[in-house]
Amino acid sequence: MYQDLLNYSKTKGICLVIVSKTRTNEAILEIYELGQRVFAENRVQELVRKSQELPSDIKWHLIGHLQKNKAKHVVPIADMVQSLDSLQLAKVLNKEAEKCDKRLKVLLQIKIAGEESKTGYSYGILREEIDELLSMEFLEIRGVMGIGTFTSDEEVTRAEFQTLVDYYKELKTDFFPESSQFETISMGMSGDYELATDMGSTMVRIGSLAFS
Ligand SMILES: *Cc1c(COP(=O)(O)O)cnc(C)c1O
Repeated sequence: MYQDLLNYSKTKGICLVIVSKTRTNEAILEIYELGQRVFAENRVQELVRKSQELPSDIKWHLIGHLQKNKAKHVVPIADMVQSLDSLQLAKVLNKEAEKCDKRLKVLLQIKIAGEESKTGYSYGILREEIDELLSMEFLEIRGVMGIGTFTSDEEVTRAEFQTLVDYYKELKTDFFPESSQFETISMGMSGDYELATDMGSTMVRIGSLAFS
């Protein structure tokens, strides 16, 4: 299935991120051999281990909630942290990135699902804090990320995706008018990546389908 996803992403001009959480190194290498270089993990320990065991030209994204005290393990190895969800975390990431002398790519993870369990910035708080986020020299804010409600009801998902796209457009207009870097909308997983792409996603995060 990976090959179909690769063709799809090329045709649509979107970035395909393969979510490799819980997968074995062997399974990941099979997809790597087909040319895939961007993989994502949601847990720090697993990210660190796999980054040591797998080829060094893999670009690792973190997509799970990150605790501040674990940021120091992530910054040296991550190409991008998609799950920036608080000012406190941003401060720590910025400090660690400075130590590594790198600019860390981040996405603003915004809460779009009604469910309480989902992490992410509340949009209102994000807008209050964004000036401070923008002042952080070692973070490169590349766009937004959202996780929809886990549901088979397409209308629910559609409404949540539309919310994320609207947030992105507002942020772009208000805070990144000149930026050529604030261009990413990370939205869509195995069950809804086509809907997400049709609605404006530029980056999909796909796990189960890619390994099936
Ligand atoms: C696991 C995960 C995915 C991939 O989910 P699939 O349904 O397996 O494609 C995408 N995004 C996040 C944040 C995840 O935790």
